[in-house]
Amino acid sequence: MDTFFEQRQKMVSEQIEARGIRDPRVLAAMRHIPRHLFVSAEYWDKAYDDGPLPTGLGQTISQPLIVALMTSLLQLRGSEKVLEIGTGSGYQAAILGMLASQVWSIEVFPELAERARKILAELGADNVTVVTADGSGGLPEYSPYQGILMTAAAPQAPLPLLEQLDLHGRLVLPVGDSRGQELQLWERGEQGGFDMQTVTPVAFVPLRGVYGWKEDEWKSG
Ligand code: SAH
Repeated sequence: MDTFFEQRQKMVSEQIEARGIRDPRVLAAMRHIPRHLFVSAEYWDKAYDDGPLPTGLGQTISQPLIVALMTSLLQLRGSEKVLEIGTGSGYQAAILGMLASQVWSIEVFPELAERARKILAELGADNVTVVTADGSGGLPEYSPYQGILMTAAAPQAPLPLLEQLDLHGRLVLPVGDSRGQELQLWERGEQGGFDMQTVTPVAFVPLRGVYGWKEDEWKSG
């Protein structure tokens, strides 16, 4: 049996449900996916704490509340094709896999992509495909997506991501630099228009690649 079962139920009721995330499918997915398996064993005792955790290579797995919030903003019902940019540990991808029909997740670091692939396979998440590439401009091959979620901070919402959204599709991403970021929610409307609203301040690692931050730009921020 999963020794962290109780801790995980507590994480969801105290950190997520109590703070206003209500989508029952999101809550169920977070009660189900074993977050500790996505971090190295030395962090297992902290895996259900209310904060981000290191995934290796200087990257982090987001705070559970932020994972829940970003996921719930996509309003997934189960039939969607979803793209994630920034696989990291693969935890967010596993949650998305439970809530959508098909998930592509892109990671720029081959070692992280390989590790995430392995854990996702062990968990039987066969509708999640991890792609090793610069995902800052999305993955046009499988577009349009009904949901796109970016888990690294961009200078602005990359135009190719907006173009890869289906009608009424939603894009959730952090925009900003090392001094401050906001979570943005974009939705594609009729006649090629987009609605954008800002949701809350957040703190993510930088997006790299063509539409991301250059090393010196991020640091001089
Ligand atoms: N969603 C992850 C956390 C992401 S941390 C989780 O659940 O664990 C942000 C990730 O974005 C890092 O792994 C980083 O390597 C990756 N990243 C940064 N720029 C990227 C790019 N241009 N394309 C793909 N991945 C990128």
